[in-house]
Amino acid sequence: MRHPAFVFSSLLWLPAALAAQDFDTVEISATQVTPSIYMLQGSGGNVGVSIGDDGTLIVDDQFAPLTDKILAAIAELTDEPVEYVVNTHFHYDHTDGNENFGGMGAAIVAHENARVRMTTDQFVRVRPQPAYSPEGLPEITFDQSVRLHFNGQTIDILHLGNAHTDGDAVIYFREANVMHTGDVFVRYGLPFIDVGNGGSINGMIRFVDAITHVIDQDTAVIPGHGAVASRQDVVEYAVMLRTIRDRVQDAIDQGRSLQQILQSNPTQGFGPGDAEEFVTNVYNGLAP
Ligand SMILES: [Zn+2]
Repeated sequence: MRHPAFVFSSLLWLPAALAAQDFDTVEISATQVTPSIYMLQGSGGNVGVSIGDDGTLIVDDQFAPLTDKILAAIAELTDEPVEYVVNTHFHYDHTDGNENFGGMGAAIVAHENARVRMTTDQFVRVRPQPAYSPEGLPEITFDQSVRLHFNGQTIDILHLGNAHTDGDAVIYFREANVMHTGDVFVRYGLPFIDVGNGGSINGMIRFVDAITHVIDQDTAVIPGHGAVASRQDVVEYAVMLRTIRDRVQDAIDQGRSLQQILQSNPTQGFGPGDAEEFVTNVYNGLAP
């Protein structure tokens, strides 16, 4: 998930009509990644789209008010209905469209922990996320991995440990050599780590390192947010995570408090982003 706090504040405090109008101005853009795989961008997490003879599979579905716009963007690519929605994790800016797509008959796939969180009221960062109704819940879940055979692709959905949350998945289209990473890998600078929902800096580092062993230099990487990337971008992101983690760990080992660590600016050389939030989340994952 990624939104400046002021966006959330407006969603929280403005009347519903104004919040809805916020989505009225959103436009969905499509980027072709391979002949049969696209990335859609609007508001919220990147949507991956696989088209072909078997139907349409999407990865994540953004906010519920955007479903019609997402469907219109998909209709520009294919006449086939959405058969599957694969969720990268449970955050609302990736999954609030679930009830709409599930209600239209799509089968939703997610990690078991992501489904558990969707069944109860959550609080993510600064916003409540109410439990989803049954049609918005994943009907296929997995613990470590599940493989789909769809549109001529071998599609591996992999949980490589707790990272951004406790229910993260990456989706790897083997023949196309395309991976959607969800929010384990993002391109807006310092990432959000949902420590309150099972995430941690060391989990992020382990997960990202594992990704680099699955993909190769030719892989097209669809991040949770931002433009299509390469393995090299993922490697550089891992260096950022590891460097900041080590700085914070060293300071903890020297007995520094969180306030002292924040003042020492451990994100120096990296960013942009909310350094205070990021360092606090790193600290909370490391402090004894
Ligand atoms: Zn997220």
